[in-house]
Amino acid sequence: MSPRVEEKRKPLHMIEKRQRPELQTPMMRQYLAIKEKHPREILFFRMGDFYEMFLDDAEEASQLLGLTLTSRSKDKGAIPMAGIPVRALDSYLPKLLEAGKRVAICEQTEDPKEAKGIVDREVVRVISPGTITDERLVDEKSNNFIAAIAQGKKDYGLAWLDVTTGQFLIWEADEAEAILAQLARIDPAEILLPESLAFQPKETNRLTTALDGIVQSPYPDPLFDPQTAYRCLTEQFGTRTLEGFGCDHMKHAIAAGGGLMRYVLDTQKNALRHITKITPFRHQKHVPIDQTTRRALEISETYRGGNRSGTLISCFDRTSTALGARLLREWLMSPLTDVDTILQRQNSVADLVKDEAVRCELIELLRQVHDLERLSTRLSYRSANARDLVALARTLEIIPSIDQLLARCDASYLQDLRRRFDVPHNLVTEIGTVIVDDPPISIKEGGIIREGFEPELDEVREIASQGTRWIASFQHREIERTGIPSLKIGYNKVFGYYLEVTNTHLGKVPEHYIRKQTLKNCERFLTADLKEYETKVLNAKERAVSLEYDLFCNLRDQATSHIQQLQKIAGALAEVDVLSTFARLAHERRYTRPVVNESRVLRIVDGRHPIVEEFQGGETFVPNPIDLTPDGNIMVITGPNMAGKSTYIRQIALLTLLAQTGSFLPAREAEIGVVDRIFTRVGAADDLARGQSTFMVEMNETANILNNATDRSLIILDEVGRGTSTFDGVSLAWAITEFLAEKVNCRTLFATHYHELTALSTLYPSLRNFNFSVKEWKDEIIFLRQLVEGGTDKSYGIHVARLAGIPAAVLDRAKEILANLESQAFDLQDQPKLAHKNEPSAPSAPDGSRLQLDFFRSANEKILEELKAADLNSMTPLEALQLFADLQKRLV
Ligand code: ADP
Repeated sequence: MSPRVEEKRKPLHMIEKRQRPELQTPMMRQYLAIKEKHPREILFFRMGDFYEMFLDDAEEASQLLGLTLTSRSKDKGAIPMAGIPVRALDSYLPKLLEAGKRVAICEQTEDPKEAKGIVDREVVRVISPGTITDERLVDEKSNNFIAAIAQGKKDYGLAWLDVTTGQFLIWEADEAEAILAQLARIDPAEILLPESLAFQPKETNRLTTALDGIVQSPYPDPLFDPQTAYRCLTEQFGTRTLEGFGCDHMKHAIAAGGGLMRYVLDTQKNALRHITKITPFRHQKHVPIDQTTRRALEISETYRGGNRSGTLISCFDRTSTALGARLLREWLMSPLTDVDTILQRQNSVADLVKDEAVRCELIELLRQVHDLERLSTRLSYRSANARDLVALARTLEIIPSIDQLLARCDASYLQDLRRRFDVPHNLVTEIGTVIVDDPPISIKEGGIIREGFEPELDEVREIASQGTRWIASFQHREIERTGIPSLKIGYNKVFGYYLEVTNTHLGKVPEHYIRKQTLKNCERFLTADLKEYETKVLNAKERAVSLEYDLFCNLRDQATSHIQQLQKIAGALAEVDVLSTFARLAHERRYTRPVVNESRVLRIVDGRHPIVEEFQGGETFVPNPIDLTPDGNIMVITGPNMAGKSTYIRQIALLTLLAQTGSFLPAREAEIGVVDRIFTRVGAADDLARGQSTFMVEMNETANILNNATDRSLIILDEVGRGTSTFDGVSLAWAITEFLAEKVNCRTLFATHYHELTALSTLYPSLRNFNFSVKEWKDEIIFLRQLVEGGTDKSYGIHVARLAGIPAAVLDRAKEILANLESQAFDLQDQPKLAHKNEPSAPSAPDGSRLQLDFFRSANEKILEELKAADLNSMTPLEALQLFADLQKRLV
């Protein structure tokens, strides 16, 4: 997807258009006045059962939605117009949001029957990709963030908010780079940028990359003024300062947070009472996972196709609640670096693995838990219905049982979570007393409140049912009185109750029947009695419905006052859900607890790839080990295509990541010293949307690694230098590995086709060669999938080419060239030629080093070397002549 920077639409076109006579009707004047306040949005203007769009909006929306463009008047100055039925809003809205548009919903705010002149209209809400709350439009298993960046002289502030759950975080940093990396991790649906936001040219490029696919909304700078922003936040939270949230000093973060809050309040036109706090993000505690790594390791989307299924998240998502599913995603996207917290989580998982009864009962109970976070949001939007309240009560009723189960565990972390279960018992009782067990969806048609709760309601209900009973018995009486056996009482919205008599019996109709309607086979009548009871029934029904509605709203307000408590409970439930999911997976998939510590060790015995193991049908997964220590921390892994190199290096990265989330691992045993970052450079993909070639993407990623990796990082390289010529590629790969060995010295796995690189192990003791063994059998290669120590001297590329049907002549010639190339790999001192530098000294600083790699010239090199090595002083002239003739003959 290409970046979408929304242009600021000039209100000018409106003014010009305003001069046109056809825009002078009262309704169009009203439209234009409202539109002027919403120049950036597509305005859905309610007219009866339709939302209409006019002028530019109509033209744009008709294209995006495939609507027919009509016009409001038939004259030549016709106003373009397009509309959608109100009930079809849900099907059209997503298309506009996907196209990065914002939509302003303008409703009729008075009853058209009572309006004098034009009906009052008002924008009741602006919906944008980052502020959708309708559950049909957002994924319940992931957050939908809207973010904002604020810029100071040197620092940047970042804020992100999920309107559907109320999660609201802020952070600041003095480097644009760090902010952009964090932004990639958050992956928001929409971002607000101050109009004056300016990055350095180098960073602008990165900004464009980071914002790829996110809807961008430039906003006026005053929205991000630190003082105004601060005030907006304290007003929202009802506090005097922001000290209680631990972020009072974070000026730029607050600017971003306040600007974002103001925007959301203005567009949602709602007090958003579920947004109750702001949390400063503690960056240093997490391993930043950028978009490249997320894709390379297939954490949230697959490498090819960007699908959700086949990812780490889908492989681990056995959570019982949507709350847990969202938290699981968050944990997998932000592994911890703090060993203590990891151990706390592990202890909890261990308890739940050990006690099968607790685990199974817990999972059973969690299945009955509703999405308390989104329920709180519906409370604050006043869109919660009676079913939501019943769901809320049922969820809260389960908490004591969950609490009791957790009380049987030892882990202090689980005991801490229990302290967050502060259930508003009064509310639960009240909901149980007020609302029937299975209420209807609508809150405006009655049937919600229990009998016996409110005497007045019971009374009007009795009147209504008496009336209904009277009407039912009236039919019986009238049949007897008139002798018309088929006489029946019916009801419709136009006439209310009526008596229906078929044509056959019309002669028997009494005089006092008032004829109301003639149909083909029958006629319909009223009587004074019937009308009287009808009024009684309808009045009573109306009164009952309105009483029920008021009672319901009172109860809903009462629930709304507990939002903070509910959010706390929701947070704790989500953690219990994820921890018990980790335990369940550990049990079902034979995962074990890794030792996690501060060392720089990475040791795994019989590790398996969690996703491949789970999703690969047929072939059983072959486990493999790893053993890296600070003295031996670089692995160069060679082996033919399809041998299992990529799977292995990703597996190691995933297991490290999982260990740092507190999860157990698919391995016999493991020791993992926490990493500060996981860097990946995997595969080759053009980024044509950004005008970057495969090779450019590859080099960008590699530059990022070389510039930012520390000795605590984990680097995964799957082929480097493949996007250019072999000589270029192998030179770069060589030099990069040298740099990593000499300068970075962190745990590194490098899978490559360039078996030339195995020669590096002769130069760096920290580097070891491994390969994936294969067996040649007749014309086939059998992949053993087993990692063995040592390099390969073959790529089997020619072998594979033969299997593919490349002509024999081509294969034979390729073999010749390969033999030539391979014979030149080492110099007379048996040192790899690729290691030669301009300075004859042993490997030292890579600066200024230049590889002397030229395979074609080097065919004569051996001869020159022999000439150079010849000791002329100890030769007879004849010997010298013979040597000379011999060398000349061998020259190519
Ligand atoms: P390479 O990177 O060497 O070309 P891959 O890692 O892509 O090879 O592996 C090729 C295929 O082999 C994958 O589709 C994977 O499913 C399978 N595979 C890899 N490693 C294993 C293993 N240890 N056990 C079973 N199957 C494996």
